[in-house]
Amino acid sequence: MNKKTVKDLDVKGKKVIVRVDFNVPLSKENREEIADDSRIKAALPTIDYLLENAGKVILISHLGRPKGEANPEFSLKPVAAYLEEIYKDKFHFLASDEVVDNKVVEGVDQLKEGELALLENTRFVAGETKNDPEFAKKLANLADLYVNDAFGTSHRAHASNVGLANNLPSAVGFLIEKEISIMGKALEEPYHPFVSILGGAKVSDKIGVIENLIGKVDTILIGGGMAYTFLKAQGKEIGKSLLEGDKMGLSLELLEKAKENNVEIILPLDVVIASEIKSGVETKMVDIDHIPEDMEALDIGEKTAEVFASKIKEAKTVVWNGPMGVFEIKEFSNGTNKVAKALAESDAVTIVGGGDSALAIEKAGLKDKITHVSTGGGASLEFLEGKDLPGIKAIEEK
Ligand code: ADP
Ligand code: MG
Repeated sequence: MNKKTVKDLDVKGKKVIVRVDFNVPLSKENREEIADDSRIKAALPTIDYLLENAGKVILISHLGRPKGEANPEFSLKPVAAYLEEIYKDKFHFLASDEVVDNKVVEGVDQLKEGELALLENTRFVAGETKNDPEFAKKLANLADLYVNDAFGTSHRAHASNVGLANNLPSAVGFLIEKEISIMGKALEEPYHPFVSILGGAKVSDKIGVIENLIGKVDTILIGGGMAYTFLKAQGKEIGKSLLEGDKMGLSLELLEKAKENNVEIILPLDVVIASEIKSGVETKMVDIDHIPEDMEALDIGEKTAEVFASKIKEAKTVVWNGPMGVFEIKEFSNGTNKVAKALAESDAVTIVGGGDSALAIEKAGLKDKITHVSTGGGASLEFLEGKDLPGIKAIEEK
């Protein structure tokens, strides 16, 4: 993908509407307080570049799911307060329940070079998620240029991405540029051995990823809940472990396809079992042939974790999606943490995609030691599936 970036735009004196991802978690006790500001921080390089180059910046984002109507609970007000701290009187919050109204138009017209404005939550308007052409035009009429820097919503065609790109000269911001250049290169021109670790709850969520990776990788390590459908399909007894009975046939087909492509697939050799998913519950480590009928496998075992770690150690490219067990509970987090550590210690290009996997890396404090932790949950998954992301596809080529 050879998309235009902000550096290809001449922004001096121009009004630039920028779709950012300010969908930040708010604190439960106080919805005026931002619980985690990393998404705002991640957007600042693009914003600052545009301001330094004398653009007039109009920021748009969604926050949560207000379902197409104005709702103060989902106002971007806390984000506005945050930006005001940074940009002082260069910043203006142009808040309207309709996102764009006459007052907003006036406010935007008064922006000076190097100033910025934030509009209200785009999902206050039903047309946003429907990619309604009318709403897209209203937004587009505010500006001369469009920049998309919200990777996390790029797998959806909304008015604030596809709609705007259809109406204005467009480019991607630094955040999206980084996402697609690092992940794109890893998938298209990987250094070998290329090892992928896949986990998470369901096979059905990851079929597309497995199919796409079988043509590219040397080894796939499978852990997490999805492993047990594969094992059951191979005739193993899995007790009460997660099973998608209707996906067993497909699992066998995927194993066969891997074989034809000389892709090695490694399934768990041993597992941590318990009678229920609960913290403090009694656990046991058993070989894969010894899962009792009334027990559930909730993490990969020590042997498996070691094999996975040694495969990761030999790799030159590693892509990880999906935790190895129920990592949210300490008793079942060892496998996921071991894999996270192996990635952190590796010299390979290491990429983590998927909301829960990214969270596991962050919890382990290893984010700095990974080449790239994708900021988009669903979007990174679709990227790993080899799909075009509409919000990026719509941007002009160089
Ligand atoms: P990601 O967000 O990284 O793509 P998923 O959403 O596919 O990952 O999967 C994460 C979920 O899978 C976690 O909530 C985790 O508890 C669950 N999970 C992992 N292993 C198991 C298992 N053995 N049994 C049940 N659930 C599991
Ligand atoms: Mg998830």
